[in-house]
Amino acid sequence: MSSTGRSEALHHDPRLPLPIALRIHPRARRLKLRFDESGQRLLLTCPPRSNRRAALDWAASQRLWVEARLVEAEPAQPLEPDAVIPIEGRDIRLSWIEGGPRLVTLSGDVLACGGPREAFARRIEAWLRAHARRTLSADTAEAARRAGVTVRRVTIGDAGTRWGSCSASGSIRYNWRLVLAPPEVRRWVVAHEVAHRVHMNHGPAFKALEGQLFDGDAEAARSLLRRIGPGLKRVGRSL
Ligand SMILES: [Zn+2]
Repeated sequence: MSSTGRSEALHHDPRLPLPIALRIHPRARRLKLRFDESGQRLLLTCPPRSNRRAALDWAASQRLWVEARLVEAEPAQPLEPDAVIPIEGRDIRLSWIEGGPRLVTLSGDVLACGGPREAFARRIEAWLRAHARRTLSADTAEAARRAGVTVRRVTIGDAGTRWGSCSASGSIRYNWRLVLAPPEVRRWVVAHEVAHRVHMNHGPAFKALEGQLFDGDAEAARSLLRRIGPGLKRVGRSL
């Protein structure tokens, strides 16, 4: 405990990717959120007589800022020869074969292609996106069949911080980087989005259907994605 502030125990707010410590500061005039020195938890400074729940709600509203900082903190992992990247949770080495064919092939734990060296990263990323589209489309079709719903369209992107989103018109959009994650993480996101085809909320009926479609520990998959997500978002980035 410091002389100027009062610390509370760590909160694990499901809306935020890191545990959060609240601290009442007698001279604080507004809520302030930052990372602690370790980068492993958040510190929320509150003015005296703050409402704890309102303060946590405000911190949760800063989620996008927190996630962007976490992504920045991860080292970039460019798609270059001899780099090792995760694909479906397995470590795969990238290999450029000078004078080899341009076609990208996955064989054992090596993802290889030839063609011009300058086009290597672009070609590998195109393969990863195509692999993501195939895998996520197949997972989605299977989950939709089990849920007895239709999915109008599956699209693949890399926008924003969301891993998946389901529109009211019945299209589901995924981040292609899900194909880098262990399969259970990817399948949980699919179960989550397909369950939104039935319930456009996160209520108890939604949770029950999500659990039924996933066949696993949804909470564990969610927290694993939260932990590895920032690293996955650095794959293919050079800065
Ligand atoms: Zn949702």
